[in-house]
Amino acid sequence: MRFPLTMTAKLSGYIAGKRMRRVEKFPLVMMLEPLHACNLTCTGCGRIREYKETIKEQLTVEQCLRAVDECGAPIVSICGGEPMIYRELARLVREILDRGKHIYLCTNGMFIQKRLKEYQPTSSFFFNVHLDGLEATHDLCVERKGVFRQAIEGIRAAKAEGFMVCTNTTIYKQTDLGEIADLFEYLKELGVDGHTIAPSYSYAAVQHKEIFMSRQEIQAKFRQAAKVLEKYALMTSPIYLDYLQGEREDLMCTAWGNPTYNPSGWKAPCYLITDGHHATFKDFLEKTDWERYGRGRDPRCEHCMVHVGYEPSAVLGANRRLRDTWRLLKWQLSGVTPGRPRSSSSEADPCSPLSPAPTDSSEAT
Ligand code: SF4
Repeated sequence: MRFPLTMTAKLSGYIAGKRMRRVEKFPLVMMLEPLHACNLTCTGCGRIREYKETIKEQLTVEQCLRAVDECGAPIVSICGGEPMIYRELARLVREILDRGKHIYLCTNGMFIQKRLKEYQPTSSFFFNVHLDGLEATHDLCVERKGVFRQAIEGIRAAKAEGFMVCTNTTIYKQTDLGEIADLFEYLKELGVDGHTIAPSYSYAAVQHKEIFMSRQEIQAKFRQAAKVLEKYALMTSPIYLDYLQGEREDLMCTAWGNPTYNPSGWKAPCYLITDGHHATFKDFLEKTDWERYGRGRDPRCEHCMVHVGYEPSAVLGANRRLRDTWRLLKWQLSGVTPGRPRSSSSEADPCSPLSPAPTDSSEAT
Protein backbone atom coordinates (compact mmCIF):
# COMPACT_ATOMS: atom_id res chain seq x y z
CA MET A 1 0.00 0.00 0.00
CA ARG A 2 1.15 3.50 -0.77
CA PHE A 3 0.22 4.88 2.67
CA PRO A 4 -0.18 3.01 5.97
CA LEU A 5 -3.57 1.31 6.17
CA THR A 6 -4.41 3.13 9.41
CA MET A 7 -3.93 6.48 7.69
CA THR A 8 -6.12 5.54 4.74
CA ALA A 9 -8.82 4.14 7.02
CA LYS A 10 -8.76 7.20 9.27
CA LEU A 11 -8.95 9.63 6.36
CA SER A 12 -11.71 7.65 4.63
CA GLY A 13 -13.81 7.51 7.80
CA TYR A 14 -13.27 11.20 8.45
CA ILE A 15 -14.37 12.22 4.95
CA ALA A 16 -17.36 9.85 4.98
CA GLY A 17 -18.46 11.36 8.33
CA LYS A 18 -18.22 14.92 7.00
CA ARG A 19 -20.13 14.00 3.85
CA MET A 20 -22.86 12.29 5.83
CA ARG A 21 -23.25 15.42 7.93
CA ARG A 22 -23.21 17.45 4.69
CA VAL A 23 -20.29 19.61 5.83
CA GLU A 24 -19.30 21.59 2.76
CA LYS A 25 -15.80 22.78 3.64
CA PHE A 26 -13.46 20.87 5.92
CA PRO A 27 -9.70 20.39 6.21
CA LEU A 28 -7.76 17.27 5.24
CA VAL A 29 -4.23 18.32 6.14
CA MET A 30 -3.32 21.06 8.60
CA MET A 31 -0.04 22.84 7.92
CA LEU A 32 1.34 23.70 11.36
CA GLU A 33 4.26 26.13 11.48
CA PRO A 34 5.38 26.43 15.12
CA LEU A 35 8.09 28.86 14.01
CA HIS A 36 9.47 30.49 10.88
CA ALA A 37 13.12 30.53 11.87
CA CYS A 38 15.40 28.24 9.90
CA ASN A 39 19.06 27.32 9.89
CA LEU A 40 19.10 27.66 6.08
CA THR A 41 18.25 30.36 3.53
CA CYS A 42 16.98 28.32 0.55
CA THR A 43 16.71 30.23 -2.72
CA GLY A 44 13.00 29.46 -3.33
CA CYS A 45 11.72 29.79 0.26
CA GLY A 46 9.15 32.51 0.82
CA ARG A 47 8.64 31.87 4.53
CA ILE A 48 11.92 33.25 5.85
CA ARG A 49 11.41 36.31 3.63
CA GLU A 50 7.71 36.98 4.15
CA TYR A 51 7.97 36.64 7.93
CA LYS A 52 11.39 38.21 8.44
CA GLU A 53 9.95 40.86 10.79
CA THR A 54 8.53 38.15 13.08
CA ILE A 55 11.10 35.43 12.41
CA LYS A 56 11.89 35.04 16.13
CA GLU A 57 8.27 34.45 17.16
CA GLN A 58 7.23 30.93 18.09
CA LEU A 59 3.99 29.23 19.04
CA THR A 60 3.85 27.44 22.39
CA VAL A 61 3.04 23.75 22.37
CA GLU A 62 -0.31 24.61 23.97
CA GLN A 63 -1.14 27.09 21.19
CA CYS A 64 -0.25 24.45 18.60
CA LEU A 65 -2.45 21.84 20.27
CA ARG A 66 -5.40 24.20 20.60
CA ALA A 67 -5.14 24.89 16.87
CA VAL A 68 -4.84 21.16 16.04
CA ASP A 69 -7.96 20.47 18.13
CA GLU A 70 -9.92 23.34 16.66
CA CYS A 71 -9.02 22.45 13.09
CA GLY A 72 -9.76 18.73 13.43
CA ALA A 73 -7.83 17.65 10.30
CA PRO A 74 -6.75 13.99 10.60
CA ILE A 75 -3.28 14.72 9.19
CA VAL A 76 -0.92 17.39 10.52
CA SER A 77 2.04 18.48 8.46
CA ILE A 78 4.54 20.15 10.81
CA CYS A 79 6.65 22.58 8.82
CA GLY A 80 8.12 26.06 9.22
CA GLY A 81 10.90 27.35 9.18
CA GLU A 82 12.82 24.28 10.25
CA PRO A 83 10.65 22.50 12.82
CA MET A 84 13.51 20.41 14.16
CA ILE A 85 15.03 23.53 15.76
CA TYR A 86 11.79 24.00 17.75
CA ARG A 87 12.85 23.07 21.28
CA GLU A 88 9.68 21.22 22.28
CA LEU A 89 9.07 19.43 19.01
CA ALA A 90 9.23 15.92 20.48
CA ARG A 91 6.54 16.77 23.04
CA LEU A 92 4.42 18.40 20.37
CA VAL A 93 4.71 15.31 18.16
CA ARG A 94 3.78 13.00 21.06
CA GLU A 95 0.75 15.07 22.00
CA ILE A 96 -0.52 15.20 18.42
CA LEU A 97 -0.03 11.44 17.97
CA ASP A 98 -1.88 10.88 21.26
CA ARG A 99 -4.85 12.62 19.65
CA GLY A 100 -4.94 9.92 16.97
CA LYS A 101 -3.56 12.16 14.21
CA HIS A 102 -1.02 11.31 11.55
CA ILE A 103 2.05 13.51 11.19
CA TYR A 104 4.38 14.48 8.37
CA LEU A 105 7.39 16.22 9.88
CA CYS A 106 8.75 18.37 7.03
CA THR A 107 12.44 18.97 7.58
CA ASN A 108 15.68 19.72 5.81
CA GLY A 109 16.93 16.54 7.51
CA MET A 110 20.03 18.07 9.10
CA PHE A 111 18.99 17.35 12.71
CA ILE A 112 17.36 13.94 12.30
CA GLN A 113 20.42 11.98 13.32
CA LYS A 114 21.10 14.18 16.35
CA ARG A 115 17.51 14.19 17.68
CA LEU A 116 16.28 10.78 16.53
CA LYS A 117 16.27 9.27 20.02
CA GLU A 118 13.53 11.72 21.06
CA TYR A 119 11.03 9.98 18.73
CA GLN A 120 9.46 6.55 18.46
CA PRO A 121 8.78 4.90 15.09
CA THR A 122 5.10 4.42 14.30
CA SER A 123 3.07 4.11 11.12
CA SER A 124 1.42 7.43 12.06
CA PHE A 125 4.62 9.42 11.74
CA PHE A 126 6.73 10.25 8.68
CA PHE A 127 9.92 12.22 8.42
CA ASN A 128 9.40 14.18 5.20
CA VAL A 129 12.83 15.31 4.01
CA HIS A 130 13.29 18.11 1.52
CA LEU A 131 15.67 17.13 -1.33
CA ASP A 132 15.76 19.08 -4.59
CA GLY A 133 18.40 17.03 -6.39
CA LEU A 134 21.68 15.21 -5.95
CA GLU A 135 24.40 16.64 -3.76
CA ALA A 136 25.69 19.50 -5.92
CA THR A 137 22.21 20.65 -7.00
CA HIS A 138 20.61 20.34 -3.59
CA ASP A 139 23.42 22.16 -1.80
CA LEU A 140 23.16 24.92 -4.40
CA CYS A 141 19.36 25.22 -3.87
CA VAL A 142 19.74 25.46 -0.10
CA GLU A 143 22.76 27.72 -0.40
CA ARG A 144 25.04 25.65 1.84
CA LYS A 145 27.51 22.84 1.22
CA GLY A 146 27.10 19.61 3.21
CA VAL A 147 23.31 19.78 3.65
CA PHE A 148 22.64 16.87 1.26
CA ARG A 149 25.09 14.61 3.08
CA GLN A 150 23.60 15.45 6.49
CA ALA A 151 20.07 14.84 5.21
CA ILE A 152 21.13 11.48 3.76
CA GLU A 153 22.76 10.49 7.03
CA GLY A 154 19.53 11.45 8.81
CA ILE A 155 17.46 9.34 6.40
CA ARG A 156 19.83 6.42 6.82
CA ALA A 157 19.63 6.65 10.64
CA ALA A 158 15.84 6.98 10.64
CA LYS A 159 15.37 3.97 8.34
CA ALA A 160 17.76 1.89 10.45
CA GLU A 161 15.54 2.59 13.47
CA GLY A 162 12.36 1.64 11.61
CA PHE A 163 10.91 5.10 10.93
CA MET A 164 8.77 5.93 7.91
CA VAL A 165 10.61 8.39 5.67
CA CYS A 166 9.44 10.17 2.55
CA THR A 167 10.96 13.03 0.59
CA ASN A 168 9.59 16.15 -1.04
CA THR A 169 11.11 17.67 -4.13
CA THR A 170 10.30 21.06 -5.58
CA ILE A 171 10.43 21.13 -9.37
CA TYR A 172 11.88 24.39 -10.69
CA LYS A 173 12.15 25.59 -14.25
CA GLN A 174 15.78 24.46 -14.34
CA THR A 175 15.23 21.06 -12.65
CA ASP A 176 16.83 18.18 -14.54
CA LEU A 177 14.23 15.40 -14.29
CA GLY A 178 16.82 12.74 -15.15
CA GLU A 179 18.70 13.82 -12.04
CA ILE A 180 15.51 13.50 -9.97
CA ALA A 181 15.10 9.93 -11.29
CA ASP A 182 18.68 9.21 -10.21
CA LEU A 183 17.92 10.72 -6.80
CA PHE A 184 14.82 8.53 -6.34
CA GLU A 185 16.80 5.46 -7.43
CA TYR A 186 19.39 6.24 -4.80
CA LEU A 187 16.74 6.87 -2.12
CA LYS A 188 15.13 3.53 -2.98
CA GLU A 189 18.40 1.89 -1.98
CA LEU A 190 18.11 3.61 1.41
CA GLY A 191 14.57 2.25 1.91
CA VAL A 192 12.76 5.60 1.54
CA ASP A 193 9.01 4.98 1.50
CA GLY A 194 7.83 7.52 -1.07
CA HIS A 195 8.24 10.88 -2.73
CA THR A 196 6.14 13.94 -3.36
CA ILE A 197 6.90 16.31 -6.21
CA ALA A 198 5.35 19.73 -6.65
CA PRO A 199 5.99 22.84 -8.74
CA SER A 200 7.83 25.70 -7.07
CA TYR A 201 5.73 28.34 -5.34
CA SER A 202 5.96 31.77 -6.87
CA TYR A 203 6.24 33.66 -3.58
CA ALA A 204 5.93 37.42 -3.91
CA ALA A 205 8.74 37.72 -1.35
CA VAL A 206 11.25 35.70 -3.41
CA GLN A 207 13.42 37.90 -5.61
CA HIS A 208 14.69 35.19 -8.01
CA LYS A 209 11.57 35.01 -10.18
CA GLU A 210 13.45 33.22 -12.97
CA ILE A 211 13.21 29.90 -11.06
CA PHE A 212 9.39 29.87 -11.15
CA MET A 213 7.24 28.56 -14.00
CA SER A 214 4.13 29.75 -15.80
CA ARG A 215 1.11 27.42 -15.92
CA GLN A 216 2.12 26.29 -19.43
CA GLU A 217 5.70 25.64 -18.35
CA ILE A 218 4.52 23.63 -15.33
CA GLN A 219 2.29 21.50 -17.55
CA ALA A 220 5.10 20.77 -20.02
CA LYS A 221 7.54 19.98 -17.19
CA PHE A 222 5.14 17.64 -15.41
CA ARG A 223 4.18 15.80 -18.64
CA GLN A 224 7.87 14.98 -18.85
CA ALA A 225 8.09 14.21 -15.10
CA ALA A 226 5.15 11.79 -15.21
CA LYS A 227 7.00 9.70 -17.82
CA VAL A 228 10.43 9.86 -16.20
CA LEU A 229 9.28 9.27 -12.61
CA GLU A 230 6.28 6.92 -12.99
CA LYS A 231 8.15 3.84 -11.76
CA TYR A 232 8.94 5.39 -8.38
CA ALA A 233 6.71 5.45 -5.28
CA LEU A 234 5.15 8.85 -5.90
CA MET A 235 2.89 10.03 -3.10
CA THR A 236 1.50 12.78 -5.29
CA SER A 237 -2.03 11.67 -6.23
CA PRO A 238 -2.76 10.73 -9.87
CA ILE A 239 -5.55 13.33 -10.12
CA TYR A 240 -3.21 16.09 -8.99
CA LEU A 241 -0.57 14.80 -11.42
CA ASP A 242 -3.20 14.95 -14.20
CA TYR A 243 -3.89 18.52 -13.19
CA LEU A 244 -0.20 19.40 -13.24
CA GLN A 245 0.03 17.97 -16.76
CA GLY A 246 -2.89 20.12 -17.96
CA GLU A 247 -5.41 17.27 -18.17
CA ARG A 248 -7.79 18.38 -15.40
CA GLU A 249 -8.51 22.04 -16.03
CA ASP A 250 -11.87 21.52 -14.29
CA LEU A 251 -10.25 21.30 -10.85
CA MET A 252 -10.65 24.45 -8.82
CA CYS A 253 -8.67 25.57 -5.81
CA THR A 254 -9.69 24.08 -2.45
CA ALA A 255 -7.15 25.91 -0.27
CA TRP A 256 -9.39 25.50 2.78
CA GLY A 257 -8.56 21.77 2.61
CA ASN A 258 -4.93 22.50 3.60
CA PRO A 259 -5.07 25.41 6.09
CA THR A 260 -1.91 26.93 7.56
CA TYR A 261 -1.49 27.99 11.20
CA ASN A 262 1.58 29.93 12.35
CA PRO A 263 2.61 32.49 15.03
CA SER A 264 0.54 35.16 13.23
CA GLY A 265 -2.64 33.02 13.19
CA TRP A 266 -4.60 31.15 10.49
CA LYS A 267 -3.12 32.37 7.21
CA ALA A 268 -5.75 33.35 4.64
CA PRO A 269 -6.45 32.37 2.03
CA CYS A 270 -3.60 29.90 1.61
CA TYR A 271 -0.01 28.84 2.17
CA LEU A 272 1.03 31.04 -0.74
CA ILE A 273 -0.97 34.28 -0.49
CA THR A 274 -1.41 36.27 2.70
CA ASP A 275 -4.39 38.61 2.66
CA GLY A 276 -4.73 38.34 6.42
CA HIS A 277 -4.50 36.13 9.49
CA HIS A 278 -7.40 34.93 11.61
CA ALA A 279 -7.33 34.19 15.33
CA THR A 280 -9.57 31.11 15.00
CA PHE A 281 -10.04 28.39 12.41
CA LYS A 282 -13.77 29.12 12.41
CA ASP A 283 -13.10 32.73 11.39
CA PHE A 284 -10.59 31.59 8.75
CA LEU A 285 -13.17 29.28 7.19
CA GLU A 286 -16.17 31.58 7.50
CA LYS A 287 -14.67 35.02 6.96
CA THR A 288 -12.48 34.24 3.95
CA ASP A 289 -14.32 35.02 0.74
CA TRP A 290 -13.39 31.79 -1.05
CA GLU A 291 -15.22 32.83 -4.23
CA ARG A 292 -12.57 35.53 -4.75
CA TYR A 293 -9.74 33.04 -5.17
CA GLY A 294 -8.61 30.62 -7.84
CA ARG A 295 -7.84 30.76 -11.53
CA GLY A 296 -9.78 33.44 -13.39
CA ARG A 297 -10.75 35.18 -10.15
CA ASP A 298 -7.53 36.60 -8.74
CA PRO A 299 -4.52 37.39 -10.95
CA ARG A 300 -2.20 36.08 -8.22
CA CYS A 301 -3.78 32.64 -8.66
CA GLU A 302 -3.33 32.51 -12.44
CA HIS A 303 -0.17 30.40 -12.49
CA CYS A 304 -0.70 28.67 -9.18
CA MET A 305 -0.79 24.87 -9.32
CA VAL A 306 0.51 24.17 -5.82
CA HIS A 307 -0.54 21.09 -3.90
CA VAL A 308 -2.14 23.05 -1.04
CA GLY A 309 -4.62 24.47 -3.53
CA TYR A 310 -5.23 21.47 -5.78
CA GLU A 311 -4.09 18.17 -4.23
CA PRO A 312 -7.33 17.85 -2.20
CA SER A 313 -9.56 19.15 -5.01
CA ALA A 314 -10.39 15.74 -6.50
CA VAL A 315 -11.70 14.67 -3.11
CA LEU A 316 -13.12 17.90 -1.72
CA GLY A 317 -13.98 20.03 -4.74
CA ALA A 318 -17.42 20.57 -6.23
CA ASN A 319 -16.39 18.91 -9.51
CA ARG A 320 -15.44 15.47 -8.22
CA ARG A 321 -15.85 12.57 -10.62
CA LEU A 322 -16.83 9.04 -9.67
CA ARG A 323 -13.86 7.57 -11.50
CA ASP A 324 -11.53 9.80 -9.43
CA THR A 325 -12.44 7.79 -6.33
CA TRP A 326 -11.63 4.50 -8.06
CA ARG A 327 -8.38 5.84 -9.46
CA LEU A 328 -7.34 7.11 -6.03
CA LEU A 329 -8.24 3.77 -4.46
CA LYS A 330 -6.34 1.81 -7.10
CA TRP A 331 -3.36 4.11 -6.74
CA GLN A 332 -3.35 3.73 -2.96
CA LEU A 333 -3.55 -0.06 -3.18
CA SER A 334 -0.91 -0.33 -5.89
CA GLY A 335 1.75 1.47 -3.89
CA VAL A 336 4.82 -0.03 -2.36
CA THR A 337 5.00 -1.49 1.10
CA PRO A 338 6.89 0.84 3.42
CA GLY A 339 10.55 0.25 2.80
CA ARG A 340 13.53 -1.09 4.67
CA PRO A 341 17.04 -0.17 3.59
CA ARG A 342 18.51 -2.62 1.11
CA SER A 343 21.31 -4.49 2.79
CA SER A 344 23.59 -4.03 -0.20
CA SER A 345 23.32 -0.28 0.16
CA SER A 346 24.47 0.08 3.73
CA GLU A 347 27.68 1.64 2.53
CA ALA A 348 26.07 3.74 -0.20
CA ASP A 349 27.93 6.93 -0.86
CA PRO A 350 25.67 9.99 -0.60
CA CYS A 351 27.64 11.50 -3.45
CA SER A 352 27.12 8.56 -5.79
CA PRO A 353 25.07 9.42 -8.82
CA LEU A 354 22.84 8.20 -8.57
CA SER A 355 -0.20 13.65 -1.31
CA PRO A 356 -5.47 9.24 0.31
CA ALA A 357 -7.91 7.18 -1.25
CA PRO A 358 -11.16 8.13 0.40
CA THR A 359 -14.41 6.60 -0.74
CA ASP A 360 -17.31 8.91 -1.28
CA SER A 361 -20.69 7.73 -2.40
CA SER A 362 -22.19 11.19 -2.60
CA GLU A 363 -19.98 12.58 -5.30
CA ALA A 364 -20.91 13.90 -8.70
CA THR A 365 -20.08 11.88 -11.80
S1 SF4 B 1 -5.10 29.21 -6.49
FE1 SF4 B 1 -3.16 28.98 -5.34
S2 SF4 B 1 -2.58 31.09 -4.75
FE2 SF4 B 1 -4.77 31.10 -5.30
S3 SF4 B 1 -5.86 30.77 -3.35
FE3 SF4 B 1 -5.60 28.75 -4.33
S4 SF4 B 1 -3.70 27.95 -3.44
FE4 SF4 B 1 -3.71 30.15 -3.03
